[in-house]
This record gives sequence, C-alpha cells and structure tokens, in this order.
Amino acid sequence: MHKIIKVKGEEYKTPIFCPDATRGVIRSADQKDLLDANVNGLVVNTYHLLSQPGIEVLKSVGGIKKLMSWDKLIISDSGGFQIFSLIHKNKSLGKITEDGVKFYLNTKGEKKKYFITPEECIKIQFEIGSDIMIALDYFTPYKADKWETQKSVETTTAWAKRCKEEFQRQCESRGMNDGTRPLLFAVIQGGNDLEMRQRSADELTEIGFDGYGLGGWTFDDEGKFDLKLVEQIAKMMPDDKFKYALGVGNPQNIIDCISYGYDIFDCVLPTRDARHQRLYIMEPKGDEFYSYIYISRSIYANDNAPISKNCECYACKNYSRAYINHLFKIGDSLAFRLATIHNLFFYSQLTLKTQQEL
Ligand SMILES: [Zn+2]
Repeated sequence: MHKIIKVKGEEYKTPIFCPDATRGVIRSADQKDLLDANVNGLVVNTYHLLSQPGIEVLKSVGGIKKLMSWDKLIISDSGGFQIFSLIHKNKSLGKITEDGVKFYLNTKGEKKKYFITPEECIKIQFEIGSDIMIALDYFTPYKADKWETQKSVETTTAWAKRCKEEFQRQCESRGMNDGTRPLLFAVIQGGNDLEMRQRSADELTEIGFDGYGLGGWTFDDEGKFDLKLVEQIAKMMPDDKFKYALGVGNPQNIIDCISYGYDIFDCVLPTRDARHQRLYIMEPKGDEFYSYIYISRSIYANDNAPISKNCECYACKNYSRAYINHLFKIGDSLAFRLATIHNLFFYSQLTLKTQQEL
C-alpha cells in the first residue's frame, strides 16, 4: 500500500513528484497551470528564499504558501546542498564549521554575511511555513576519502539531533500538536560507502524523524545513477516512514526508485527540459518506456499533432506541435508555459499511475 502524507490537516497520496519551485515559482507556470498538470507539491529552496524575498518579508506576509497563493504541499530543503556547492566552487564564499555554515549572499548588490546553525536552519523553515522541513546535513563530497566520509556522517548526525530539538521547541512555542505541526525529515549521508550509509541511517533513525532522505552523491564512477546503492539505502530507511529521493530524477530513475520503496521525488529536469525545448513523449525508445522530442526542430513546423499522442494535458488538448514550434521560434513566453505544463503533466502521470496500480 502506498503511504499518505498527512500534514496540517491535508492529505497527499504517494508516490508524489514535487517539481522544484526554487525561488517560490515554477518559471512561466502559475498555480492554476500546476494544478491542471496534477502537481500537488512543490519544493522551495531555503538558501534562495533567504536571499530573496528574505525571511523578514516571508514572516510579515505569513509564509511562502500565502505569498505564492499555493495551498498544497510545500517542502523546503535545508539550503545545505546549495551552500556546500557554493563553498566547494569558491572557498572565499563561506566556511563550514562544526557549529554550522558561514557564507556570504549577494542580495541586490549588497553582500551580507550569514551563519546558519542547525537551529537557525529550522527557525528559517518555520518562517517559510513549509509542510515538510529538512534537517541541515553535511554533504559527503564526491570521491570523499574514508576520513571525510566519516566526518560528514558524524556531523550530519550531530546537526540532525540539534535540528530535531529546535523543531520540538518551535512546535511547543507555537502551540502545535501532532495534527497541526509540519513534518521533519533527515538526510542520510555517507557517499558510496555502504557501511557509512548504514551508520548514518541507524543514527538518524535512533533520533527519530518523519522521513528520511537519500542524500549526497548517488552516481557511479561512470556518472550513471547508481541503482544498487540507491536500492540499498532505501532498505536502510524505516519502512513506516517516508523515503525521499532528493533530486531524483529522470522518468526511468523515478520508476526504479518507486519500486525500491521511495515515496517522494523532486527534480529540476521536467521544467529545465521544457525551457530547453525538450518534451517528453510516451513512446518507447531502446530500453526506455519514453522518449522525447526537440519541439523547435523544423520537422515539427507543420505538424498538427499534439506534443504527445495520448497526453491529456492542457497543452496537448489545445495546441499542436506546429504552434509550439512557432512560439519557441519567436521566443514567446507562451512556449515555455505550454512546454512546462506538458512536461510536468508527464511527470505527474508517472507517480499517479503507480498510485493507481498499488
Ligand atoms: Zn501533453
């Protein structure tokens, strides 16, 4: 049986795919478009919201859901991954200490210094007002050695514990009970070291969270999604809690991960691909059950068929490949909107079909 996310009086069926509304928007699609595409949840990025509109604004308007006019599921990430990537690229932009992460943000030409401790990370997510919050974790870098991997696992556990304590303090001070509080997830680290992954999963399960995330690097040496590793990690997570495959993935990855027991997914692919004119179609190609077309290719300029033959999305029901091809060629924003609706609908179908089959 699939699990149901029950949070703040609402229920969401899983498996669920939540596209990345990084800055509080799915570019070129509004909330009605998202609902039409069967999108029931979004992931916002704590790091980017910290920069704009800023936590003070979010606090004064009553949180991200109010600001976006979105009353469905909102997941906020911890911001940790973005900060780690930033520091990894340029060491002068921040520093990771045992107590948290220090970094600089350039907002409207003004350089501001931030220090995010695990406690601060939770406080910020309460001001964002998300339904699912993620504990701050220490990303295990790609090809980390044993010492670095161990350090990331140990720090992730220590920070997760502090996040949980702050989460409980926040719930108490806000008078929230189990029916009205948000959910808190922790992220399993440990790179491709199974022993370390097991240790991370065990230590986090011991603290106790509503769900567990697949964190860190999940690709093999050839850069392919490491299915074996991902399957093993799912087995390390408690079966009665939610299993969140962060940043996963392409349609085949999602189908595979659902079969391993993952419940929640988010990925930039469908919206990014839409902007790059790459549209998914439900026609098998090679080993895969789907393929895609580049809609701006000249062969579609006079093609009256919809993007994908049996697609029930708003774009396919109303417009032809020829029209969307034309819109892309003249660079009209409607092209991005229709392409985004189609790709998101395609992704929603992946999880909806599984919900019905289970
Ligand atoms: Zn469609």
